[in-house]
Amino acid sequence: MRTVIGIARILARSTLDFALPPRCAGCGTIVDEVHSFCPDCWKQVEFLGDGGCLCCGLPLQATEQTSCARCLAQPPRLARIRSAVSYDDLSRSLAIRLKYGRKVAMARTMAHYMAPLVKPDANALLVPVPLHRTRLWTRGFNQSALVARELSRRLKIRADPLLLRRIRRTPPLKGMSPLQRRKTVAGAFRVTDKSAVAGKTIVLVDDVLTTGSTAEACARALKRAGAARVELVSWARVVKPSQLMR
Ligand SMILES: [Zn+2]
Ligand SMILES: [Zn+2]
Repeated sequence: MRTVIGIARILARSTLDFALPPRCAGCGTIVDEVHSFCPDCWKQVEFLGDGGCLCCGLPLQATEQTSCARCLAQPPRLARIRSAVSYDDLSRSLAIRLKYGRKVAMARTMAHYMAPLVKPDANALLVPVPLHRTRLWTRGFNQSALVARELSRRLKIRADPLLLRRIRRTPPLKGMSPLQRRKTVAGAFRVTDKSAVAGKTIVLVDDVLTTGSTAEACARALKRAGAARVELVSWARVVKPSQLMR
């Protein structure tokens, strides 16, 4: 019974999202089209596009051709990282509103800009970066799972929000050194069904990519479970090379 009410609520909410005039995904003023920004916000959004290093997506140096020197020297566990926008006040407010506000509409907007960054792959499976169950309880849902569901709808790629579990709660990684971060998230994730992962291209879905340590820990668990390849697509990314990865 509770499930039925839950579903009815979700349906009511999405109908409401449709009935309301489209609003700027950044500031909320009414705009002409869904998934668009008002002129002021549009100027602020920094879309990252599909350029840069084939693996990590960071800008290439003049001497580098398709992959950056770091990815060539040490192939990263995440074979491909793409993010829709650079993480700033605007993308942050969008990610926060997805957590606390018009969830379905926001997830759709994010998926709208993330979908073109996912490479067509018949072998792909979308897997949201999971939250620990205590955080899931307090928040009630995983925003990355909502975005994964929208991406799945758009791209006709299956999404499995339960495939990866966060088995350990981890403290915020902010301010930690790369090594500390790695140690903190090591072993925090477990694959629930190895047979579903084996031989697949797993596309991890996240809302904000900061240091990449969490995604790397997910990739490690997925690779151990037999994934052929692990990629990541996120809504926003902190683009400060000093803070990224290794
Ligand atoms: Zn706006
Ligand atoms: Zn690279």
